[in-house]
Amino acid sequence: MKRDPSPSKQDSASKLFKMSQEHHKVVIIGSGPAGHTAAIYLARANMNPVLYEGFMAAGVAAGGQLTTTTEVENFPGFPNAISGPELMELLKQQSTRFGTTVITETISRVDFSQRPFRLWREGADTEDQQAILADAVVIATGATAKRLNIAGEDVFWQAGISACAVCDGAAPIFRNKPIVVVGGGDSASEEATFLTRYASKVYVLVRRDKLRASKVMADRMLAHPKIEVLWNKIPIEAKGDRLMKELVIEDTVTKERTTLTANGLFYAIGHQPNTAIFQGQLETDEVGYLVTKVRDGAASTYTSVEGVFACGDVQDKTYRQAITAAGSGCMAALDAERWLEAQEFAAGH
Ligand code: FAD
Ligand code: NDP
Repeated sequence: MKRDPSPSKQDSASKLFKMSQEHHKVVIIGSGPAGHTAAIYLARANMNPVLYEGFMAAGVAAGGQLTTTTEVENFPGFPNAISGPELMELLKQQSTRFGTTVITETISRVDFSQRPFRLWREGADTEDQQAILADAVVIATGATAKRLNIAGEDVFWQAGISACAVCDGAAPIFRNKPIVVVGGGDSASEEATFLTRYASKVYVLVRRDKLRASKVMADRMLAHPKIEVLWNKIPIEAKGDRLMKELVIEDTVTKERTTLTANGLFYAIGHQPNTAIFQGQLETDEVGYLVTKVRDGAASTYTSVEGVFACGDVQDKTYRQAITAAGSGCMAALDAERWLEAQEFAAGH
């Protein structure tokens, strides 16, 4: 008859297990410009970062939102523009060149209530023992622009339909052409006003009879001679050939449908930060964006849990640009590095 292992054997077995368990100094979750910039800085600081890039996390390929766009014309250093996927491939090459380990898996569960922090991969998140341990975590999971999934949206996505006026508004296909913006908040007001630089006319579809936008933004939009607000209207179907040419809209009160000549459709109906797995563990605002702290009178990437840092769109509802995401990725790396050094110093004294 087999005997149960003695307690001492059990202990050494569990010690062995613990030793084989992944334990990293710093884990980065997310693979957009914020995550990779954090990785470049942490790798160059010999922190051996491990970056979980996601496997179709938040419905987007590894590399994040820029993998869904064509030309990026406003990222410094590329005077002749660069394609979004190519830019993200270069960022990935740069972070791996300095020693970042990139893992193509999605993190689907975290526990920030104890140190070291615990993270689990999708598909291996039911077993507590399969946790990845991390002394510090940088969250760079981004945000997802809300879409309406109207008829024709997949056909004309990036061929007339977009969710980012600042990114795509200057494209030749919109020059001196009528364009439609959907939404009634500050984003819609801002994007509609911005698009008047290029478009011959900007229609704004508002699903109710009032705007949600702040007064100053709303007034600016309503006073603009190129902007016409269409109240109680929603888009139904985008039509065209290779590019979008028309938009069928519906009156939300009468249900009457009409067709607008329009070469562009910009969604400005809000973003959803990718923070579902952090709910209840980190402080978020009412929409779900991670809250980062002001420290010593300046912005920082510290979250409500010390040792967990956030950068990029997941904590930014104002700027939402690749360069600002990259900038805050650098901040998160510096914050994490200094925090880890302070921990080590305190432990050694
Ligand atoms: P994201 O780019 O959102 O990347 C985060 C990524 O992390 C996710 O997509 C996913 O791959 C991964 N991830 C998420 N959750 C997990 C998880 N749980 N585990 C592992 N991985 C995870 N900005 C510009 O400056 N110029 C432009 O021209 C421009 N064009 C754009 C065009 C489009 C169509 C869109 C949608 C956006 C555009 N932007 C542009 C905005 C820009 O893409 C974003 O501001 C920027 O990508 C934000 O970077 P990020 O690193 O915060 O996150
Ligand atoms: P908001 O959530 O404020 O507004 C979203 C708008 O889209 C609302 O008018 C909403 O209508 C409409 N909408 C939502 N879903 C649909 C749908 N399915 N069909 C049609 N319309 C829809 O998002 P924003 O992105 O505008 O703003 C987010 C935050 O960022 C706000 O706090 C805002 O103040 C801030 N911001 C500030 C700026 C600035 O100050 N410069 C610029 C941009 C944003 P309804 O009102 O009926 O719900």
